[in-house]
Amino acid sequence: MVDLHGQYLKIKANIDRAIQACIDTTAFIKGPQVSYFENQLADFLNVGHVVSCANGTDALQLALMALNLQPGDEIIIPAFTYIAVAEVIALLRLTPVLVDVDARTFNISPEQIERAITSRTKLVVPVHLFGQCADMERILSICNQYQLHVIEDAAQAIGAMVTFADGTSGMAGTMGDFGTTSFFPSKNLGCFGDGGAILTQDSERAGQVKMLANHGQSRKYHHELVGINSRLDSLQAAILSEKLPYLLAYTQARQQAAAQYDDRLSAIDAIEIPHRSKYSTHVFHQYTLKVPPDQRNGLKDYLQQKGIPSMVYYPIPVSSQKAYEKLGRVVGDLAITHELCQRVLSLPMHTELSEQQIDYITETITDYFQ
Ligand SMILES: *Cc1c(COP(=O)(O)O)cnc(C)c1O
Repeated sequence: MVDLHGQYLKIKANIDRAIQACIDTTAFIKGPQVSYFENQLADFLNVGHVVSCANGTDALQLALMALNLQPGDEIIIPAFTYIAVAEVIALLRLTPVLVDVDARTFNISPEQIERAITSRTKLVVPVHLFGQCADMERILSICNQYQLHVIEDAAQAIGAMVTFADGTSGMAGTMGDFGTTSFFPSKNLGCFGDGGAILTQDSERAGQVKMLANHGQSRKYHHELVGINSRLDSLQAAILSEKLPYLLAYTQARQQAAAQYDDRLSAIDAIEIPHRSKYSTHVFHQYTLKVPPDQRNGLKDYLQQKGIPSMVYYPIPVSSQKAYEKLGRVVGDLAITHELCQRVLSLPMHTELSEQQIDYITETITDYFQ
């Protein structure tokens, strides 16, 4: 699905030098590499503040903790998504409210958000799935109208950009009260282990999150808040600083691979290639097809036989997961979420895909449908 080794080899000398420099200074925790990377990413995303942390799940938890929510407060999230956001909501004794997604973009549906709002609703978490932003113009306007907070989960969409009707634009993760992201190795900007960050335009909020991520300390041994311990290692920050200058090129490589997939797959009537919305660029964390439900697993097995990996992101709605069945609230029948869980199939997508590899993958898919 990914080729992290091939990507590393292209910048091996820089990465190795950065790692060695880190080892030489032994500033493994909170070394200067960490704030350097935070500032570099803030510049890249045009956001006021980046606060790094240990992983993308912690980033979501820290953003939630910084909003002073109370047990029982409701948080609207998509039912078709990775589990992380539901998990941290449950851990904080908040109430997840699961709503359906848009059939074409796979992202949380603004209509369903509006339908789910009650007097207990405090927050909406759009998850920018597979590399394309949710409909932020409508989501922000609904949240404005009902005075709800917004945390954008941008773990899969770093570098994606929304264009608003008035011509202004915003990068994924920079439009809500907070944005969160992950530097898990296979993410679009990945490190060599775990890492994550919280993004915010507001300096007070950034200070709050920073304190929460450091045991709630305002200064050493002065604990103003009950916090957690969540840090990005200096080594990971040093690696990320070497990789960030390549993020635009990495995104272009993914978009080019996606265009080649499109070109070779669009003639197959049975499948739907990924939809591109009018309002967001797509940075293709995943290239996800919609396949007829009775052919999806067959196609996956056929590809496997031919040596081609593929993955189902995600096979089970959050609302149907055992741990979450009795938690929170479900709005509507989640018909689209259930359908997508039967239909989606993600193909190999990374920065090192060659045209020959794409030809082989798409010819194999064409064979399957003949
Ligand atoms: C990867 C991911 C996360 C969690 O990130 P980790 O660094 O693995 O904790 C959260 N949300 C989404 C949408 C993700 O894809």
